[in-house]
Amino acid sequence: MGIFLRKTYTYGKQSISDDDIACVVQALKSDWLTQGPLVTKFENELTQKFGAKSAVAVANGTAGLHLIGLALGWSKGDLILTTPLTFLASANCALYCGADVDFVDIDEVTYNLSSVKLENKILDLQKNGKKVKAVVAVDFGGYPCDWAQLSILSKKYNFDLVDDACHAIGAKYQGKEICSSYYAKAVNLSFHPVKSMTTGEGGAILSNDLDFISRVKMLRTHGISKDPNLLLKNDGPWYYEMHELGFNYRITDFQCALGISQLKRLDDFNNRRREIAKFYLENLSSELVTTPKVSADVEHSYHLYPVLLKLEKFSVTKKELFKEFQNEGLNLQVHYYPVPLQPYYVKKYGFKEADFPVAVNFYNREISLPIYPELTNNDLQEIISRFHSVLMRYVK
Ligand SMILES: *Cc1c(COP(=O)(O)O)cnc(C)c1O
Repeated sequence: MGIFLRKTYTYGKQSISDDDIACVVQALKSDWLTQGPLVTKFENELTQKFGAKSAVAVANGTAGLHLIGLALGWSKGDLILTTPLTFLASANCALYCGADVDFVDIDEVTYNLSSVKLENKILDLQKNGKKVKAVVAVDFGGYPCDWAQLSILSKKYNFDLVDDACHAIGAKYQGKEICSSYYAKAVNLSFHPVKSMTTGEGGAILSNDLDFISRVKMLRTHGISKDPNLLLKNDGPWYYEMHELGFNYRITDFQCALGISQLKRLDDFNNRRREIAKFYLENLSSELVTTPKVSADVEHSYHLYPVLLKLEKFSVTKKELFKEFQNEGLNLQVHYYPVPLQPYYVKKYGFKEADFPVAVNFYNREISLPIYPELTNNDLQEIISRFHSVLMRYVK
């Protein structure tokens, strides 16, 4: 059997069932394509599933972060802190609102924003008379942040806590659903196809603050209000007013049909991801790679399975190993090049590698193994054997 006949694997992908398809088809045949009953139904099912008071479904996860920033009043002169180890959107949302962004290096063990370094950073800023408006914490790969400590800091230093939980849909922290928004003012989700469940493009914001949620809803649709309590006058049933500058960040009804159907499958998806993680933990050579932390007080959702290569053991670089994995049909990915080192951020703020030594070391070694519900046990055997065969070829 030649190499070209072999199955190839990526780090993540969606799972679409016949039921999912039937739900979307049914929505397409209904009277509504957008802003129909399924948007509200999806929002209600999200709140029921996760236990937050309210949810707003939006066009994508990036739009969700932008809306959170706007609804929390971020603007020029405000400072937002986030982690360097995330997707661009966790930081960009601050700039969309005209605020500034800075980064706090990660913890060596959890790979999440370090709450110790966060407090040091806040104290440093205080010395210069600067205050932090909000912290956007990311549950990297699906491993929950140190939420107990983060919420203590948010009260002590009076900043808003936002959970960019795009990796952590269905993860739990000390028995509580991450998406219940128990610790954070707002939780942001993405339903992009590589995430834990999908609507194609799509996202949602969950919160227990109903005033905040109604602001988010208004800003999702151009800043338009029809609420009789807010209107300055009333010309008739057609009449609406715009009091703030909002956007069109709506999601469609047929996407929500898919979301409702996928949400029913979320527990199965996450259980399979946990089985895959267990397989990797038991079968990966700890001589050659470091596997993610496993902890009793969290339920990891394993959006990613990041391993750190013990590079000093190999005769070639990570770049060369990566090419060899590709030749073996393992089309892996690296998560992430630290956001502050992106040329745009270097140019704007002058960040250096030395500012984020832990995130940089992580990036230099990290590689994300395939993890998604449709991988069979045979696939996993195949992946691990190809992965180890490359590593063994170059071990010193
Ligand atoms: C995917 C992702 C986003 C953005 O979501 P989109 O739906 O792609 O806009 C934001 N933050 C994190 C951490 C993500 O992984």
